[in-house]
Amino acid sequence: MTPVLGPQIGVPVTPAASVRVPPEPGELRYQRCGACETANFAPTEMCRGCSSRALQWVTSAGRGSVYSWTVVRRPAARELGDPYAVAIVDLDEGYRMLTNLVEVEPTEIHSGMRVRVDLRPMGEERVLPFFTPDRS
Ligand SMILES: [Zn+2]
Repeated sequence: MTPVLGPQIGVPVTPAASVRVPPEPGELRYQRCGACETANFAPTEMCRGCSSRALQWVTSAGRGSVYSWTVVRRPAARELGDPYAVAIVDLDEGYRMLTNLVEVEPTEIHSGMRVRVDLRPMGEERVLPFFTPDRS
């Protein structure tokens, strides 16, 4: 039987600045340019669309679709744990993230699969955004 995938252990795949950390409620955030409205992610000091510094943090709905993925069945080190899926997700707001897919069977994953964010505490100071199938 194929295992349901969990998060990759030990290697954060997304800058922690993208999410609020406890005690604030977790939410996925990205930067929107006040000049040209380009969505910017990963966090930056200058807009990738127009070089403006008028960037504003906004809350993402955390929904999108899988652009591409790979299932790592043999991690580089044994302590990295069970198989996991590394994926590129296109968020509906117009930005793209490198992340892990969780709570999904490897055979279920496909390009265009709808996903939603699954914020998980990793230690006491970080919350990382993983993605799970959007079955709603
Ligand atoms: Zn801009």
